[in-house]
Amino acid sequence: MFFYRLPLFCFATLIATLWLGAEPTPATHEATHEERAAPDEPGITFNSVHVAGPYIAMTFDDGPSATLTPKLLDLLAAHHIKATFFVIGENVAEHPEIVARAAREGHEIGNHSWSHPNFGKMSDENVRRQLWRTDDAIKNATGKRPTLLRPPYGSITAREKRWIHHEFGYQIILWDVDPNDWKRPGPAVVRNRILQETRPGSIVLSHDIHPGTIEAMPSTLDALEAKGFKFVTVSELIRAATARPARSPAEAPGNVRAAVTPSPSPTSAPSGDQAQ
Ligand SMILES: [Zn+2]
Repeated sequence: MFFYRLPLFCFATLIATLWLGAEPTPATHEATHEERAAPDEPGITFNSVHVAGPYIAMTFDDGPSATLTPKLLDLLAAHHIKATFFVIGENVAEHPEIVARAAREGHEIGNHSWSHPNFGKMSDENVRRQLWRTDDAIKNATGKRPTLLRPPYGSITAREKRWIHHEFGYQIILWDVDPNDWKRPGPAVVRNRILQETRPGSIVLSHDIHPGTIEAMPSTLDALEAKGFKFVTVSELIRAATARPARSPAEAPGNVRAAVTPSPSPTSAPSGDQAQ
């Protein structure tokens, strides 16, 4: 029995290792202990998606902003691009009409908490309250409940992922492209970082509350279009996912690795000056 189980165990370990991000992880992105300790269940958490076509998802966090989000919506409409907005409940309550417009124009709205706290350091009850209040605010503004969550700072424990998914049905959306636009490095830097890092299946993080990000978007979108990328919402990207080929390690371990979309964990050890 032991010998039958051993290869299976090894294979499972290999897959778990790959899933956890055995690919090179950017130095700035250090996974938390929780991330390493418990593998994510496939289908709940996404950094990027394995797709057959040139599909990517642009995501904008922390809004809506009274001045910048409408500008961005105008630009996206001119490009016929659908994006995903991870909104903060407090801001939704203040500007529900902007969120309503975004939803009406085909963009996806995701939950990004009520007031942007660090879920990794909170009680379940407080996390639950943050999520429900925002879920209700989005429902009030758009008529629809969100199905996606992006935890502030990307900070969430493996245990939280499981109960939140169970209770809210949310998929947890992180990212694989991070231009660090919240540090306001200037529009050219934001654009260049996005262009360098984006590949098919990427989930691109940025923020519609920083003027430089909005300034960067016209040329960023032009350049991404010129490279042949097609823009979809996060839920559409997930629906476009192709199955990761199942192979036994004895067959071709190298191929298994090649077939897996690199998925660097963006979950940084949360610190005070982060703004995701
Ligand atoms: Zn944020």
